[in-house]
Amino acid sequence: MSHWIASLIHGSHWGEVTNCYVCAACGVQCAPSAEPPARCVICEDERQYVGWSGQRWTLLDDLRMEHRNQLRDDCGITGIGTEPSFAIGQRALLVRAPHGNLLWDCITLIDDETIEAVRKLGGVRAIAISHPHYYSSMVEWSRAFDAPVLLHSADQRWVMRPDACIEFWGGETKSLWDGMTLIRGGGHFEGGTVLHWPAGAEGRGALLSGDIIQVAQDRRWVSFMYSFPNYIPLSAAEVDRVVAAVQPFEFDRIYGAWWDRNVASDAKNALHRSARRYKRAPVS
Ligand SMILES: [Zn+2]
Ligand SMILES: [Zn+2]
Repeated sequence: MSHWIASLIHGSHWGEVTNCYVCAACGVQCAPSAEPPARCVICEDERQYVGWSGQRWTLLDDLRMEHRNQLRDDCGITGIGTEPSFAIGQRALLVRAPHGNLLWDCITLIDDETIEAVRKLGGVRAIAISHPHYYSSMVEWSRAFDAPVLLHSADQRWVMRPDACIEFWGGETKSLWDGMTLIRGGGHFEGGTVLHWPAGAEGRGALLSGDIIQVAQDRRWVSFMYSFPNYIPLSAAEVDRVVAAVQPFEFDRIYGAWWDRNVASDAKNALHRSARRYKRAPVS
């Protein structure tokens, strides 16, 4: 799309070219502007970081030239991730359900190939995102599939591209269709959300946790942090809070934020023993 047409669509003044700039470090797309924003608020927050060579911006069109999305099975669910990896490198998950698919978490790159592939799998009824680090280009995904974006209202101030497609929900849980539930875990972010998918793990139930519950390298374990890149831990009380939020739900598997970062089975016990280990630290 030419900048001229883009500026018409974005409703800007004649002659003024605006773009939705994308932060190269966190992958979040900003509201249309004539110049790149001065700073990325998400990266300047102590949970993230500005790249060592300074703030850099890119555009979705440029990203499309050098990257592709891969769709593949990841432990019984369809993952969508970008290659080569971009920004934080998370992959989205397409939860396929009888009454409509849910896109869990989001990635910045969206292109015609991806849209066609997802449509073949039944499209997207709604998009739900665990926390602001994965807000990415959620508005573009929403428009491609005519699907609302469900975000917890406690994190509203981190939305860099406000749009009518975003529906904020409040409180501790939000019921979706086919028994799925959004659960506010908190911790890493005040509105940090996990999805309970009862049909997951062959009917034993699964949690899709982003990094609200972080699957560790030893995938029998999980952990919890206020900031992962800057190693800022959560308090024991906050860890208890995350665990208590998901305790009423049946699950045997936890899907983390990156390819293959999943607790494949016995995940509820893994969550409890991980919380106990965390609170015992330092290990003596
Ligand atoms: Zn950023
Ligand atoms: Zn995060």
